[in-house]
Amino acid sequence: MSRPIQALIDPSALEYNLAIVRRHAPRSRVMAVIKADAYGHGLLRTAEALAEAEGFALLELDAAVRLREAGYRQTILLLEGFFDADELRWIEQCRLSTVVHHPEQLAMLEAVRRRAALDVFLKLNSGMNRLGFTPREFPAALERLKVNPAVRQITLMTHFACADEPDRNDSITAQLQCFNLAAGGRNMPRSLANSAAVLRFPEAHADWVRPGIMLYGSSPLAHTTAEQLGLQPAMTVSSRIISVQTLRLGDGVGYGHAFRADRSMRVGIVAGGYADGYPRHAPTGTPILVKGRRTRVVGRISMDMLHVDLSEIEDAGVGSPVTLWGKGMPVDEVARAAGTLGYELLCAIAPRMQRVT
Ligand SMILES: *Cc1c(COP(=O)(O)O)cnc(C)c1O
Repeated sequence: MSRPIQALIDPSALEYNLAIVRRHAPRSRVMAVIKADAYGHGLLRTAEALAEAEGFALLELDAAVRLREAGYRQTILLLEGFFDADELRWIEQCRLSTVVHHPEQLAMLEAVRRRAALDVFLKLNSGMNRLGFTPREFPAALERLKVNPAVRQITLMTHFACADEPDRNDSITAQLQCFNLAAGGRNMPRSLANSAAVLRFPEAHADWVRPGIMLYGSSPLAHTTAEQLGLQPAMTVSSRIISVQTLRLGDGVGYGHAFRADRSMRVGIVAGGYADGYPRHAPTGTPILVKGRRTRVVGRISMDMLHVDLSEIEDAGVGSPVTLWGKGMPVDEVARAAGTLGYELLCAIAPRMQRVT
């Protein structure tokens, strides 16, 4: 048997979560965000499960090309656009859509010879201050695209900075107002909403929603769990106990003896560490399942192993199954314990981790 850690990807959970997106945004087309290898779930298997989406969004050109070559015919949007003019050849050839967010990109587009070759998403910086034209620059940028014969369709887009926090609604309102003002009465498709806005701001749904994290079954909202949102986890990372130690009062376990037994207790050693993508900052107390029962991580996470408290799980031993996160153990809970987000844990699973469907 090989090393027992693996990430099990559940295509039916992806499909199910897509249906939840549609329930929230019934009048919008869905651009499923599958950047970062589909948030760690694997590009092609995720695209297959989400094939009903009207579009895919990502930012790695090679992945976008692979997707087109695999036969997907829907919109494929490059969220950071292109980085140099050479990439436009691929964008044309594979009929990819591209975000345009800065003036150099406008100039590169003006050098494209073929007519009606490109669909662009013009990005407004409505307050996130990351990518996009300011409201002042926006009209001129739009005008340049409109008179560019290489451009076929223009969609107007923006991105929210604080859609996930209930006490920051003023920020969304301001961004929404800014966008509506810049878009004016123009008869062009629009796209604004990430997962948090899909769930919280129907007025931002517009023509295309761009959900990412919720498709994978993790909550985009700070104060609402995935379960409360009716989302199903699409990735379950599991492993097994490969050794059991009996500690006496005062014995330390693992590097730095960061955890010491306050009584005699059994500790299980799990095949899984930060080189697999488990967060090294997960402290003693981080929740984990052994034989389907909840217990806690103890001591420091090593590169290849971690330790779990077996005091309450007397029948656990070498070979007992462990769930690091996924079904029965929300990734958001593990992330919170480790001071991060579900997003980071999902994206950070390591190449050496076997992914199975
Ligand atoms: C990543 C990303 C999304 C998806 O965000 P989630 O919070 O995962 O739903 C949407 N739009 C843009 C521009 C993004 O970069």
